[in-house]
Amino acid sequence: MWFDEAARAELEEIARLDLRRVCRRVEAVAPGRIRVDGRWLLHLASNDYLGLAQHPRLKEAAAEALARFGTGAGSARLIGGTSSLHEALEEALARFKGAEAALLFSTGYQANLGVITALAGPGDLVVGDRLNHASLIDACRLSGAAFRVYPHLDAARLREILRVRRGKYRRTWVVTEGVFSMDGDVAPLAGILEAARAFEAGVVVDDAHGTGVLGAGGRGTADHLGVRAGEVIQVGTLSKALGGVGGFVAASRPVVELLKSKARAFIYTTAPPAAVAAAGLEALRVLEVEPERLARLRQNALAWRGRLSGLPFAAPFGEGPIVPVRVGESRRAMELSDALFEAGVYAPGIRPPTVPEGEARVRTSVTASHAPADLEEAFAALSAAFEKTGRNEIAV
Ligand SMILES: *Cc1c(COP(=O)(O)O)cnc(C)c1O
Repeated sequence: MWFDEAARAELEEIARLDLRRVCRRVEAVAPGRIRVDGRWLLHLASNDYLGLAQHPRLKEAAAEALARFGTGAGSARLIGGTSSLHEALEEALARFKGAEAALLFSTGYQANLGVITALAGPGDLVVGDRLNHASLIDACRLSGAAFRVYPHLDAARLREILRVRRGKYRRTWVVTEGVFSMDGDVAPLAGILEAARAFEAGVVVDDAHGTGVLGAGGRGTADHLGVRAGEVIQVGTLSKALGGVGGFVAASRPVVELLKSKARAFIYTTAPPAAVAAAGLEALRVLEVEPERLARLRQNALAWRGRLSGLPFAAPFGEGPIVPVRVGESRRAMELSDALFEAGVYAPGIRPPTVPEGEARVRTSVTASHAPADLEEAFAALSAAFEKTGRNEIAV
């Protein structure tokens, strides 16, 4: 058919630009490791920061809920898909984030779509960090609001945009990640809030990578930076440090109630299975009773950052477990990633449009599951891969 031919031609063009994407089949997982192509590799690409995805207590809680409620919720939350577990999880998430209420979505991607399209629309203005996640960008576009970006982490430029444009619009929102997913740096929430306050804008923080990682007990970026929950709308995901799947928003009761009536990504989709809610609930409990996981994650993140700062590429800034190795061109990112793979380390290359043009990188992330020896092994492999790919001058 003509569309198959068209797809083939388009795919060839994507490959020519070194942007073809393929999934690697993972055969097994163990703490800090994955098996691919019959080999166990050190896993430097997981967002399961606390190792909760393999925790026996989460598995048990999910299995119990599975036995009781079955594999599917059967309908959307508003129709008949809300179980006591969904409600308990939302209450626990609200408490965890210090907010009045919370709402569960099937994924973090959908949470962003649902929240932003419900809060902003034609006649409104949304201003976002230039490096915001694709789900935030999609949400801003889909909302129908006017959409502007400010330079990465630049609260002063944000303020300037608000000063110039605010008057023309009804409602205005500032949208940022908490911990940036591909860079590992943290949004300057104090400066952002100050600008937002000055121009009567609301702030939405997507804390996919800060939840379970930063702040007291892993409460997230807002807590870490001393921002009160009532001042921002916090989006998060259960899919990363919390070891499961599903997105959520934590906000005031009126905002959450409005979302139930307005967020299409909540209304028009089947509820996550109760087993997903049970795993999420158990993750929050484990976070409380096993604080040593968070402590280990932080130790590893600190050690890994310290280690990488000795290599001749962009010194890792930011905090937390995400440390990008920026190499510039897509081809170089893929070469470095392939060399790491050969050396027994799994860390994929990240290319446009996930990151801006010319800023391709190998994204590394450490978890609580890594032992100090793992990090030494990873560092040795990275140094060797660098030698092998033979290029040391690196774009910052
Ligand atoms: C992963 C991620 C999401 C999406 O979350 P999922 O639960 O995986 O859909 C949203 N925002 C950011 C910043 C992310 O890194």
